[in-house]
Amino acid sequence: MSSSLDIERLLSARVKDIETSGIRRAWALAQACKDPINLSIGQPDFDVAASIKEAAIKAIQNDLNGYTQTAGINPLLDTVHQRLNGQYGWEFGEQSNLSAMVTSGTAGALTLACLAVLGPGDEIIVPDPYFVIYPTLARIAEAKAVLCDTYPDFRMTAERIEKCITAKTKAVLINSPANPTGVVLNAKEVENIAILCRDKGILLITDEIYDEFVFPPVVHSSPAETSEDVLIIRGYGKTYGCTGWRMGYAAGPRVLIDSMLKLQQQTFVCAPSVMQHALLGAYDIDLSPLITRFANRRDMVVDLLGDITEVIVPDGAFYAFPKIPERHNMCGMEFISKAVEHDVLVIQGGVFSNFDTHFRISYAVPENKLESGLRTLRSLLQ
Ligand code: PMP
Repeated sequence: MSSSLDIERLLSARVKDIETSGIRRAWALAQACKDPINLSIGQPDFDVAASIKEAAIKAIQNDLNGYTQTAGINPLLDTVHQRLNGQYGWEFGEQSNLSAMVTSGTAGALTLACLAVLGPGDEIIVPDPYFVIYPTLARIAEAKAVLCDTYPDFRMTAERIEKCITAKTKAVLINSPANPTGVVLNAKEVENIAILCRDKGILLITDEIYDEFVFPPVVHSSPAETSEDVLIIRGYGKTYGCTGWRMGYAAGPRVLIDSMLKLQQQTFVCAPSVMQHALLGAYDIDLSPLITRFANRRDMVVDLLGDITEVIVPDGAFYAFPKIPERHNMCGMEFISKAVEHDVLVIQGGVFSNFDTHFRISYAVPENKLESGLRTLRSLLQ
């Protein structure tokens, strides 16, 4: 059988516009390595807790395999309501202006939020460096992502955001702890951003997928402490080691959640049913040993690289974003090619940014591998 259809010609401008070449180039390079030390992976290196695995198996055996209501099963929504009530005093219920929904991953929630709010000509302000899908989601919604330059300290402050606001701005998207930098905004910073957005009549979307991965004494702060005009987006994948289960949630103004529900109903339908049942006990899991472990790994990164290059100390997530010292006269892509030659995989900063001056390390890898990878990077940066 042969094909004569010119599929390329049929593709939408929307999809042709999506930039994947930076990541592809990094992957292509990685193919050359036999047994690389992989510091490029954005998912935890621990197993799902036994109690959660058992709950998933039970859900399948109990035939809980069908569709759920669009917003998610009530017992899981109850856990979300209780959590946000305990953390920020947010009240849920029929009389409340607030609502929540379970989504297909954090990415699912971000997609629905962008499609619900953005359209042609609209602008959304996102940090630079950013999590790779933010500009793409704006483009899919035929809107424009305005990059808020946060170099060199990677703090997305109200002052920096304010400079990016125009008459077309509909939303601001913040991410703390951040991918790719690990930077955690403090309570005053998020409060100022919440006030700015409220004063300007702009929606504040807060991607808090790494909310549990914050290293003491630093604590996680959310604009939800200040305002109810905020869309909180969180995930289960990173926190409980189940990224492939595609589970997240969104909570915020009811009118917005209702609109996102309309879109979810006609696209994703619902979040995976079995996984919703499996994660009912998620908040009973003690994450503190993991957080201590990640904090120790963070210290390893800072100890091994901090004296030879600029590393903003990450207070959360499991990434660091060191600078390539200018004396090397190398962009991120050149640096990662060099690292690959020494069997270490990291990602060039240009994948996450307008600037290709840094690289991302993920320290979600066992300590012995991490140490060996860091020693190689150290020798390349020296
Ligand atoms: N937001 C950020 C900041 C992320 O780093 C990621 C995953 N790397 C996501 C959202 C998407 O997460 P999920 O797998 O839950 O869709």
